[in-house]
Amino acid sequence: MRPEHVTVIGAGIVGGSIAFHLAERGAEVTLIDAGQPGHGASRVSFAWINGRDKNPRGYHELNRRSQDMWRRFADRLEADVGLTWGGEMRWSVTADGADELRSRVAELQSWGYPIHTLSPEEAAEMEQGIRFGDVTAVSFTDSDGHVDPVRVAVACAGRVRQLGGEVILDTPVEAIAVSDGHAHSVQAGDREIEADSIVLAGGAASPRLAGLAGIELGDAHSFGSTTITTPLEEPLFSNIAAMHTPRDLPDSLLNIRQLSDGSVMIHGGEHGIMGREGSRDDGDQLLEEAVRWLPGISGAEVAEIRRATRPVPPDGHPVLGFARDVGNVYIAFTHSGVSLAPLIGEFAAIEILDGARIEALEPYRLERFT
Ligand SMILES: Cc1cc2nc3c(=O)[nH]c(=O)nc-3n(C[C@H](O)[C@H](O)[C@H](O)COP(=O)(O)OP(=O)(O)OC[C@H]3O[C@@H](n4cnc5c(N)ncnc54)[C@H](O)[C@@H]3O)c2cc1C
Repeated sequence: MRPEHVTVIGAGIVGGSIAFHLAERGAEVTLIDAGQPGHGASRVSFAWINGRDKNPRGYHELNRRSQDMWRRFADRLEADVGLTWGGEMRWSVTADGADELRSRVAELQSWGYPIHTLSPEEAAEMEQGIRFGDVTAVSFTDSDGHVDPVRVAVACAGRVRQLGGEVILDTPVEAIAVSDGHAHSVQAGDREIEADSIVLAGGAASPRLAGLAGIELGDAHSFGSTTITTPLEEPLFSNIAAMHTPRDLPDSLLNIRQLSDGSVMIHGGEHGIMGREGSRDDGDQLLEEAVRWLPGISGAEVAEIRRATRPVPPDGHPVLGFARDVGNVYIAFTHSGVSLAPLIGEFAAIEILDGARIEALEPYRLERFT
């Protein structure tokens, strides 16, 4: 039976997208968040929309498909969500690094991904602001972009309201009532909200939320941080949307993009920093390293360090779909949720409202862990 009323817990980019797609399909939606839309991992995210680093091929295809859905999703949100295209560039500085880069390009090309190598001269011509150093190989991925996940989440919540749904903010869900393998209601603040179907999209808190419904959801979360600079007056890049520094150097691995207000987001640093909670010193150090590659940032200062827990399932791949043991609870727990948000929202709405099982989601069911 098609559920009439669906409660979505979590108004990040993933829960927001699901709630929006459900509301757009005519469901009665209640979207609940403990805080404000997009202020969990989504706000901290590097927000690179890509299939470049996604393996194996099936998972790459899932991301690729979602990447191609982003424009349509953004159009339907009827808001400026900072969607920026232009592609991704990276390069190597050693012979081994060049072999690795070329071999990945060849693999991605065999999968039909729009990526190709550039000569050092072509790269330098394309991005005159980058100080490449001694380049051994360069790749350019045409299809990649980035977005402002907070704006997406806010737009989703706004569209849910516009479409007749209810959005409850600053109110954590503290209990989920379950009996006979069926979830009936959620307790949020002093309200008990009944629902035919309940979506768990609490980001890194999803395993805890699942526990409230008696569902075991494994967890391999990690910490992540991004550093935001003060705005630059000039564009940092001439063409590309995102840049990754050489991975074959021991001291540096930076992901860099410019946000629509001119500020620059830096993610990464020494390999060890990737997995730690960033500190102010880390931020200053990252900025210093970034200037080495991009002298155009030298006028900027660290404005903010954002920190979050990354939602990561045990094998690193998404958990999507109804839980077998509580059949009307739908789980959406994933890393790469920015790349995947349009697909997860659209596919979840089909599975929840139409009772369909989407083949492309079969490898991502919770049951693979049991
Ligand atoms: C540093 C970093 C870099 C990243 N880079 C990329 C990237 O380049 N590309 C990419 O695709 N992905 C990237 N990711 C991953 C991506 O950001 C996440 O997969 C995505 O943001 C998850 O969205 P979400 O909506 O599931 O979770 P969140 O954004 O965390 O939202 C979950 C929401 O649930 C709410 N919530 C939790 N518990 C409760 C409760 N009990 N009651 C009510 N509400 C609750 C929270 O308040 C929060 O708003 C990155 C993540 C990090 C941290």
